[in-house]
Amino acid sequence: MNETNQTVSLVVVGSLALDTVTTPAAMHQDVLGGSVSYACAAASFFTQAGMVGVAGTDFPESGVAQFRKFGIDLQGLHKVEGKTFRWSGEYEKNMNNRRTLSTDLNVFADFSPQLPKAYRKSPFLFLANIAPTLQLQVLAQIRKPRFVAADTMDMWIQTAPEPLRRLISKIDLLLINDSEARLLTGEEHLVKAARQVLRWGPRYVIIKKGEHGSMLVSKSGLVMIPAYPVDDVHDPTGAGDAFAGGFMGCLAASGKLTQAAVRRAMAVGTVVASFTVEAFSLDRLAVITRANIDDRITAFREMIRL
Ligand code: AMP
Repeated sequence: MNETNQTVSLVVVGSLALDTVTTPAAMHQDVLGGSVSYACAAASFFTQAGMVGVAGTDFPESGVAQFRKFGIDLQGLHKVEGKTFRWSGEYEKNMNNRRTLSTDLNVFADFSPQLPKAYRKSPFLFLANIAPTLQLQVLAQIRKPRFVAADTMDMWIQTAPEPLRRLISKIDLLLINDSEARLLTGEEHLVKAARQVLRWGPRYVIIKKGEHGSMLVSKSGLVMIPAYPVDDVHDPTGAGDAFAGGFMGCLAASGKLTQAAVRRAMAVGTVVASFTVEAFSLDRLAVITRANIDDRITAFREMIRL
C-alpha cells in the first residue's frame, strides 16, 4: 500500500489471516487474524509498527480499516490476486489444548516480500510466525537492526527445519511455546531446551507456557513471570503473537535493551495477551486504551510483589 516514507521503529512480518475458530462456547468464521495482525495491534499501543504481509482479493476492507484505527503503518501490506491465508482451529474444553483443523497458505505460498524503503532502517524487527524462508527474506533486507526477535510453530519445525535453524542462528531472541521448544530441541526439560537454543545463536529465549506464564532464559540467568489471570477466556488465539507484539513494541518505545527494560517488556506482553483472549479476533484490543493496559500492569505488579 502507498509508500509515504514514514519511518517506523518496529517492523513486523507474519501471517495475515482469515481464521475460523471453534471453542466449546462459540464458532467464529473468517475473522481477522494471523500472527502479524495480533502482533502489530499489540505493538501499536506503544510504538509505530509497520506491517509486512500479503492479503488476497477477498480480504475485507473492514480489516484494513481496523489496522488503520490501530495506527499501524501499512506500506508493507500487499494485496494480490488470490485468496487470503486461512487457518482453522478448535479448542478443547480447558481452552489450552488446540487442534489445527486446516491451514491454507493461499497467497502466502508465492509471497516474496520487498520491504518499503522506509522500513529498511527500522531498529527493531519481529519475525512473527510464518514460513522461515519468508522470515529470512525480510531479515536480509533490514540494515543493521538493533534487535531481532522471531516466533515459529510446530508446522515449520516439522516441514522447514533447515531454514528455521539458519534463522535461529541470526536472531537475538526466539519466542516459542513449551511444546514447540520440546519438539525443536528434543529436550523435555524446558530450561535445558532453552539453553540448547542459546547454543544455536540467540542471546535470549522466551518460552511461553499459556496460562502458566512465560520464562526468559539468557546466559546471565532466568526470569519467570506468571500469566495475568483472566476471568473469562473467550478465545486464546493470538495470545502468543500479542505477547510478542507487546514485548517488542515496549522495547522499541524505550529504545533500551537493559535487564530492566526486558523485564518490563515481559510484563507488557503478558498484560496485552490477557486482553486479547477476552474476545475473538482483535475485538478486545480494538476497544481498550493504553490507560487500560497501564492499569492492568499496575495490578499485575501488585499481584507478583514478593
Ligand atoms: P497463536 O494463538 O499466538 O499461536 O496465533 C494464532 C494465529 O496464528 C492465528 O491467527 C493464525 O491465523 C496464525 N497461524 C496459524 N497457523 C499458522 C502458520 N502455519 N503460519 C503462520 N501463521 C499461522
